[in-house]
Formats: sequence, structure tokens, C-alpha cells
Amino acid sequence: MKKSDTEYDVAIVGAGFAGLYLLHRCRQLGLTARVWEKATGVGGVWFWNRYPGARCDVESMQYCYQFDTDLQQQWNWSERYSAQPEILQYAQHVAKRFDLLNGIDFEHQVENASFDSEKAHWTLSATNGNTLSARYCVMATGCLSQPNWPAIEGYDDFNGPVHHTALWPHEGVDFHNKSVAVIGTGSSGIQSIPHIAADAKALTVFQRTPNYSVPAQNAPLDPKLADTIKANYAQLRQSASEKHNAIDGHYSTQSALSVSDEERWAEYERRWNHGGLTFLGAYGDLLRKQESNDTMVEFVHAKINSIVKDKQVAQLLMPRNIIGGKRMCVDTNYYATYNRDNVQLIDLNSQPITRLNTTGVQTTQSQFDADIIVIATGFDAMTGALNQMDIRGRSGTALSAKWQDGPSSYLGLAMHDFPNLFTVTGPGSPSVLTNMMPSLEHHVEWITDCIFHMQERNLATIEATASAEQAWWQHVQEVANVGLKSATKSWYSGANIKGKANVFMPYNGGFPQYCKKCHDVATNNYDGFLKSK
Ligand code: NAP
Repeated sequence: MKKSDTEYDVAIVGAGFAGLYLLHRCRQLGLTARVWEKATGVGGVWFWNRYPGARCDVESMQYCYQFDTDLQQQWNWSERYSAQPEILQYAQHVAKRFDLLNGIDFEHQVENASFDSEKAHWTLSATNGNTLSARYCVMATGCLSQPNWPAIEGYDDFNGPVHHTALWPHEGVDFHNKSVAVIGTGSSGIQSIPHIAADAKALTVFQRTPNYSVPAQNAPLDPKLADTIKANYAQLRQSASEKHNAIDGHYSTQSALSVSDEERWAEYERRWNHGGLTFLGAYGDLLRKQESNDTMVEFVHAKINSIVKDKQVAQLLMPRNIIGGKRMCVDTNYYATYNRDNVQLIDLNSQPITRLNTTGVQTTQSQFDADIIVIATGFDAMTGALNQMDIRGRSGTALSAKWQDGPSSYLGLAMHDFPNLFTVTGPGSPSVLTNMMPSLEHHVEWITDCIFHMQERNLATIEATASAEQAWWQHVQEVANVGLKSATKSWYSGANIKGKANVFMPYNGGFPQYCKKCHDVATNNYDGFLKSK
């Protein structure tokens, strides 16, 4: 076992966008910090999710840091929506530009993290046997980083390779002249399927539940537009911070039922042609009133029907649940891919998968031979990466035990019984309901300001009180139940993982309200936290 010689102020887990900025900000504030990262490089989710077609569903000019004006002005994005390789390059650029690589230990997967009440510090140990001690520990482990492998029998029996979209091989996968099976039709499936179909000899898509997808209408980023945005970047960022989801755009407050059918249809058409997630901003009550939601569902069904030539396939691709209940997908040529001769769609509701075998996928009705199987079944979201580690707080309390019946936290930032531990975009924060970049920057700044406040005053521990955590969590659940958002079964509430507690995890009260609450807590001498000498 190699013990670190230094006792750091802050141990940071994860070198994604949150971990990188944490390290930089700690250094700016004069705090010593060390990052441990499981991967061999920076980038977090963008390091692992290298499947063909992986692309951000938030526009490039908004899916980037704002903490450094020069960085914001000097970096040039090539497309309206950035593809994974370019986002990864950006993360690598940031790591180099701010000289962060010397503060990161790669191939350090945290196994345990435990708090020593007497010494008032955290000790982390990695699977390679190394340990790291620090006064504070910040988990920057991401919301979508623990891949979900479906419980299908026969992975080892299959003769060919099985690739999870969230663990994609760095050397890529050659689909040329191959028969491919894709299981799962969420964002990862919807983005990769058109690319795999274009390369493969044959593609069979196994769909359990169809998802709503709007076209990205991706294109090269017009340099003139980028310049205009850069000239007014502060204004754009301010405007975004005032939006519920922290994404700038036009969100109507009007009811979908307050306009004529023709006007509404034209608005949906206009937004469909514009592309992207702000499609859902067409009317203010789409996620509040079932009848309003139904009007958008009807529009998307009509679109699918107009694109997909085989009407049986079109029917199978039409989701029947609330639009916007699950995270919407943003695609390029997804529905049109089903018009290709080399693509077939299998409905798992009429013929569930029974197992994988030597030559492919077996369902209750047929055998589908494949050379390569792609698993696009998502993540154990929000709590998965944290529960993967053995995190022990005061008196040895295990986080996984505390969260057995579902997570709870104070502001998605801290937990009672876990002094000096912080989570970036943890359950109970807006996180996945927002543009992750401003959300994680907000958390990094709040957490590091808090640690700085503690160090300046020679205080030893800070811990959320049980009552503050309880009150916040009750509020998180109350706002989750406003409108239609939480009515759909989704990974937001753990429904995609067998045995996981059914609790809506992200904070649905909106980014501005959330930031105000965090600000009030901090300026009120960290209201809801107990501090000790
Ligand atoms: P996902 O949305 O959870 O989708 C998983 C898919 O796998 C669903 O279609 C699911 O069907 C299916 N599935 C799960 N278990 C299955 C089983 N045992 N048999 C057959 N099918 C099964 O996961 P994801 O597509 O990876 O996306 C997760 C989130 O990551 C997204 O919502 C998004 O927030 C983020 N993401 C974003 C981007 C982007 O920025 N563009 C790209 C990729 C991912 P059921 O619905 O029936 O469970």
C-alpha cells in the first residue's frame, strides 16, 4: 500500500468537467487538492461514451465553461452541437491550459472513502492499494457514469464482441460487413443507430419502449454567429441562468390550449425545424396539463408517420407516454434510418429476449444472428457511481445504507452523518434537468467557497443537520410532483434499475430558485449546516 505523504485540504474524485474545475478553483483559493480518476485520461462521461454518433444535446456555445473569459473567447466550436471527440479535446485543452494534469492520479478507482472523526479527515483508498488523506472530500463522479448492464443471460456464450455504449473501445468498432444487434433505444441508442446502420451489413434494433426524439438540425457552427455570441457572452450566460433548465432559448408561458390548432401546429413545425431540446418550450403548460401534452404527442406521431415508410414500424416507434416525462432525445436521421433495407426493428413487448447465445440474440419467437452486440441500456443514474464505492461517514455509517430506500441530501451537496463530504450535482440538485455545465460550475464554486470559509476560520468540520436535510428532501419530492414530469417511469426515479428505490432524484424547482437557495444558505452563515472547531 502506498500512502500519500501529503495531507491535502481537498480530495477530489473524478476528472470530468466538475473535477477539473474543482482542482483549478482549489488552487486559485490556495487550497491543496489532489484528484483521483479511474480512467486513463480526463473528460469523465466524454472519455467513456465514444460510441459512433455520440454528441451533446445542448448547443456547443452553452455546453462549455464560463469561469474563464479568455477560454470562453478563444475556444472555437466547429458544430452547433459538438460531437464527443471535440468535447473530449476541449476537456484535454482545459487540463493543459490550467496546468491540471500534475494534480491528477489516473487509473485510481476509489474503493473506499471513510471519515475519521478524531482526525476530522477523509481517507480514500483505490483498487490499486494507494491511499489519500484530506480534510475534505468532493465527489465529482457524474450523474451518468455507472453503466447499466441488463440482466440478460448468455453474455459469455456469445461468440462475438459485446460493447456497452458507455464503455466504448478507444480504437473504435468496425461494423463494415457485419451483422449488428443493438439493445436499447434511449439517447445512446438513438444517436448510434443511424451511424451503425450506415456502416453495417445488417442492423437489428431491439426496442422495449420507444422514446421521443427531435432532430438536432445539427450543422457547422456559423463563425459569424459564434462571434456575435462571444461579443455578448455574459448576456447569454445571464439569460441562461434565469431559465428553469439553465439553457438559453425561447420558452413560452402561454398555454398550448390558448391558441388555434393551426397556430399550435405551425409553432411545433417551426421548433421541429429549428431543432433541439427547446422544442418543449413551445408552450408553458406542456408538462403541466395532459391535454396540452397530448397536442405535442400528436404532432410527433404525425412526424414519425410521415418519415417512416413502413406503417407498422412507424406505429412501433411512436411513444405512448408523456412527451418530456423522460429526457427527450436529440437525433440526426434516427427515424429515417428505419427506411433502410438493412435495418429491422424488433418489438420486445411482443417477443422478449430470452438470452444471448453463441450466434446472437434469442427471443421468445426467433433467433437473430449477429456478429456484434451493442448494449445501449443506459446508467444506474445519479446514485450509481456513489453507491459503487464504500463511503463511510461519522461512526462508520455507510452511504449505501443511508440511501437504501432512496437518496436524501441537503441541496444535493451534502449529507447528514457525512461531515466534510460534498457531492457535485448530487441527487436533490437540478443537475440532469439542466445544462450540466452551469450546474456543475455553480456547485464547484459553492463548495470551494465553503471550504475556503472553513479553512480561513480554522474550523474543522461542516455537516448538514438532519432537520435541514429532511426539510430539503421533502421540498425536492413536493416539486417533483408538480406537473407531469415525475409521472413517467424513468431513470430520474431509478425505475430502470431492478430493485432500486423509486424516488425522483433531481430537483425540479428550477435552476434560478435553486441557486438563490444555495446563495441564501451560504450568506446566512451556512444555514442548515453544523460547524465545529
Ligand atoms: P436510457 O435513456 O436509460 O435508455 C436505455 C434504453 O435501454 C431504453 O430504451 C430501455 O428501455 C432499454 N433497456 C434497458 N434495459 C433493457 C433490457 N433489459 N432489455 C431491453 N431494453 C432495455 O439510456 P441512454 O440512452 O444511455 O441515455 C441515458 C441518458 O444519458 C439520457 O437520458 C441523457 O440524459 C444522457 N445522454 C445524453 C446524450 C446527449 O447528450 N445527446 C447522449 C446519450 C446519453 P426501457 O425504456 O423500456 O427501459
